[in-house]
Amino acid sequence: MVSKKFALSPALAIGAFGLFAATSVFAQDVEIGTWAGFRKGAASFTFDDGAPSHVSDAGPTFKKYGYTGTFNLVTGWNPNWSGFQGLADEGHEIASHSDSHPGGNGTPMPAGEISTSKSTIAGKIKQKYGVVTLAYPNCKSPGDQQVLQSYIVGRICNGSWEGQQDVMGKDGPSNWAKVPATMTGSDGQIKSTNDFTGQMQGVVKSGGWVAFLTHGFQGKSNGSANYSPTDLGAIDGALQWAKQNDKDIWVAPMGHVAMYIKERKAAKAEASSNGGNITVKLTHSIKDNISDYDYPLSLRVKYDGSKATVKQGDATLESKIDGGYVYFDAVPNGGDIVISGEGGGTTQPTESSSSVGPSSAASSSSNPGQKVSSSSHHTSPWGNRSSSSGTNPAVSSSSQGPATPAGTSSSIAGPDAIVAAEFDSNPASAYVDASGYITVINAQGMNITVFNSLGHVVRTTKGIGCLQKVYSGAKGVYIVRIGNKAKTVSIK
Ligand SMILES: [Zn+2]
Repeated sequence: MVSKKFALSPALAIGAFGLFAATSVFAQDVEIGTWAGFRKGAASFTFDDGAPSHVSDAGPTFKKYGYTGTFNLVTGWNPNWSGFQGLADEGHEIASHSDSHPGGNGTPMPAGEISTSKSTIAGKIKQKYGVVTLAYPNCKSPGDQQVLQSYIVGRICNGSWEGQQDVMGKDGPSNWAKVPATMTGSDGQIKSTNDFTGQMQGVVKSGGWVAFLTHGFQGKSNGSANYSPTDLGAIDGALQWAKQNDKDIWVAPMGHVAMYIKERKAAKAEASSNGGNITVKLTHSIKDNISDYDYPLSLRVKYDGSKATVKQGDATLESKIDGGYVYFDAVPNGGDIVISGEGGGTTQPTESSSSVGPSSAASSSSNPGQKVSSSSHHTSPWGNRSSSSGTNPAVSSSSQGPATPAGTSSSIAGPDAIVAAEFDSNPASAYVDASGYITVINAQGMNITVFNSLGHVVRTTKGIGCLQKVYSGAKGVYIVRIGNKAKTVSIK
């Protein structure tokens, strides 16, 4: 299940850190999970043609389970931009499916639309990782090399239609300009929940990655996406199964899984120990104009203690100790990761639930070492960045306080002081997680409003439980109101 293992021998460690007392330095093992959360396999759901039902029906279905998919828009087909921005804000990937979508079987999109569709979508949709994947109209690449200058993924349809695999291994496709996705619906071979779960069970067994390609839904408003409609109930059932087996199957957008694979294959992780702390360096040298490749990787480090605080820079990472390891997610090239022994007085609100297995039948199956918090809507089985008031990474420095949301000027002035006063007596809080999502905890039933630095409301929602992602967008400072409380956070 582990793709890379780096052990620093004691001799090397002493050599490398010879300036320090040899007795305080020893070897540590650090491993990068093949998939996020050290899960066994990965699945991506992709949706073509920008159907109205993608916003009105697919979005809410995914939201029920806390999962996200990839929506490939045809820019010239008048997609519901604000609706798809709403999906992006919930963590879905918004990607390209060309500008003009030529008709005709096997007709490729005009090569010029490789870059123009990308820039149009990038201008309309704000999302953390940008426009990084392209699904070809009619399943046909307009030119692999050109595609890979603008995207990390070019997606075909069923691999077998083009002499490729249908289901990928742990390292993805043999050609990133021909990433396969299996067609669902009336003209595809994936029609029922069992068809979906059969594929996902397959990759849990094989350790691989399966992707699905869906257009509209039976009986829904599909606009131009009228090809091969799929039973939405079958997808609902598939996601329900995935949730029940969340410790084994990683459901994530195609671009996010692709980033994870590329980073994991390129990353170097090294750990050293000194003075009771373990320092992990997680780096890679991938460089292109498409992505920063800053999607968090899942790591585990051999660890004897019963408590740990894991920090990367100023950010406290959510962590979990299990079976002689400490587990956490960290961003490559995001600075040294320091694991210190004594919990540091930090409270980690989601940790109490993280030792509880999924509420489903899945808890009886063999467990790869991870436990899942069934109440958390995120990709990491051991939780997210913690939100302790002392170590919150997201609180902005007071020197760059945001503009004041309209009508709240008196209560927002000096947000840090307000936070300290108000949150002491209230369980709700907000922070930015490792993936850049503004995340709210313990806000059940409360009204949540996110303001940007101009004071504009960028998201309103209702607190649903212990942890929920509420917004992802451009870098900058935001104010999160939870009930009558306020917290300043920044997306970096
Ligand atoms: Zn299409």
